[in-house]
Amino acid sequence: MTLSKPDPYRPCPCGSGRKYKFCCHAKQQLVSNAHPLALVKEAAHYPISQCVINQHWQQGGMANIFIARQLPNAKFLFAGYLVDLLCLGVKDTFFNANVPQAELDAMPARFGMPIEPIDFEDARSIILGSIEFADQHGFVPHANWQQTQYLVEPDRPFEPKFTFGKHGKPLFIVGPDDDITNFKSRLKLK
Ligand SMILES: [Zn+2]
Repeated sequence: MTLSKPDPYRPCPCGSGRKYKFCCHAKQQLVSNAHPLALVKEAAHYPISQCVINQHWQQGGMANIFIARQLPNAKFLFAGYLVDLLCLGVKDTFFNANVPQAELDAMPARFGMPIEPIDFEDARSIILGSIEFADQHGFVPHANWQQTQYLVEPDRPFEPKFTFGKHGKPLFIVGPDDDITNFKSRLKLK
């Protein structure tokens, strides 16, 4: 049995009028070969495919947000954000690029807690609002925010929909993975 491959010299399905090989195929190859750091900077160009949060996040004072974007090569760019709503803002964050569908599907389960979809603008409001609140009290986001910020489109205004801290004041809760060094590393240097 021979599988017939699509002709690379056919007109590109995107309607550009160019040959597929030199149009979308070339763009896909470029994305597949791109460095994750280069791709993440272009995050806003790729459509959101998934945006989820842990259920009951408002009660626990901690939000786990997971955002995925579809790349042109049928793979994904995603980032996770652990958001301390009471004090530190984005406490931990990470991303990965060119992730296949199966691997992406397995990701939210790693939260170890039930999740639900959340509107992207609401997710932005939580993440960017928490950073603003933390900043007012002298805390900077996790170092990886330098990269993961691009998935949240930080330069665009967000609607302030949520409140942070406890009665407007920061409340630092020491978690099982925290120590004082970690806490100090997050203080803004003056
Ligand atoms: Zn094309």
